[in-house]
Amino acid sequence: MHGDRPALDSPCAEAITEALALRDRLDAKITEAVGAFDAAELWDLDSATSMTAWLRLHGAMTKREAARVTGRAKKLRSLSITARAWQAGELSGGQVDAMVAVLKPEMLEPFAEQEPELVPSLVGLSVNDTSRAMGHWAAHAAALADEPEPAESKRGLHLSQMLDGTWVLDGTLDAEAGEVVSTALRLGESSDSDAEPSRTPAQRRVDTLADICRFYLDHQHHRPAGRHRPHVNVVVDYEDLAGGGGGRVVDGAVLSGAALQALTCDSALHRLVMSGRSTVLDYGTSTRTIPATLWNALVLRDEHCRFPGCDRQSSWCEGHHVVHIADDGPTCLENLVLVCSRHHHRLHQPGWHAKLRPDATLEVTDPDGRHWCTDPPRAGPLLV
Ligand SMILES: [Zn+2]
Ligand SMILES: [Zn+2]
Repeated sequence: MHGDRPALDSPCAEAITEALALRDRLDAKITEAVGAFDAAELWDLDSATSMTAWLRLHGAMTKREAARVTGRAKKLRSLSITARAWQAGELSGGQVDAMVAVLKPEMLEPFAEQEPELVPSLVGLSVNDTSRAMGHWAAHAAALADEPEPAESKRGLHLSQMLDGTWVLDGTLDAEAGEVVSTALRLGESSDSDAEPSRTPAQRRVDTLADICRFYLDHQHHRPAGRHRPHVNVVVDYEDLAGGGGGRVVDGAVLSGAALQALTCDSALHRLVMSGRSTVLDYGTSTRTIPATLWNALVLRDEHCRFPGCDRQSSWCEGHHVVHIADDGPTCLENLVLVCSRHHHRLHQPGWHAKLRPDATLEVTDPDGRHWCTDPPRAGPLLV
């Protein structure tokens, strides 16, 4: 079966490295073609609005991948020696990506001028070493340019959704914004409670950022005695809602059963009955699951998150129906507890149970059967 060249369908190291090298050379060719296609704006002939849009449609790429390919091709148009070295297999795609990542638009020209000396010195380096060498060159070039890059031009924040539904956030903040964000993330952090697995600092920052954003959404309008709940349009099959199944956000992102139950536990419900995808049969007015007066009574009783060990203030909290509305749980003080958003989602996860005793003591049981009880902060004097 095997001749001199290893067959590509055999799972040996040589076959894989050979296939990768071939793909790399092909990527170099594609990048050159994309660069030329984009420069001539030929995507316009296919009624696309940009090279990125064209690649998404005709190259079946994700938005992020199409933007990456377009950006790389754009930069390589002015780096002919780099492009040729990649096509010849002297530089790898990983090295080219490392170079492009360092080369900000204003650095392209100085780099192109020095390409004849710089590119040969990068041949044979690992991707990491290429990245490091480029970093040194960029620092040197910036020092020579004598003009510090204005912080203004570095500012940028990117948020994009991945195919699996998660989001990637990255960005560069100027000094003042960075100070504000870092202080908010530090002060807004909630501590771990005994009832939950402890979180890494990075996981804690995710929870804090989501809390801060929710806090903004909850308080963006000053309404007397009311809360403005986050406005998220969720499409759900009626039977799924009653049966604990999931739903989806209108733009298609899928919501788990637990996330959907937590959202509908304290929200403004807006009925929209559809037949098929286009015919609206009935459009109802929105109904708040927890009316403002009841919310105030709940805040007065619970004051902060009632999850064991958590003391998140009421303004960060949501009302949780201990018996969910889909299971005919009533919307009354005897069936509601105040919980912060993170613990609200926790309580809706499979295996977690909460029970509210008549004296407002909350019993929480985790999936391993462990048990915690919390009393309302000032039970007694305030409620008599
Ligand atoms: Zn709930
Ligand atoms: Zn909490």
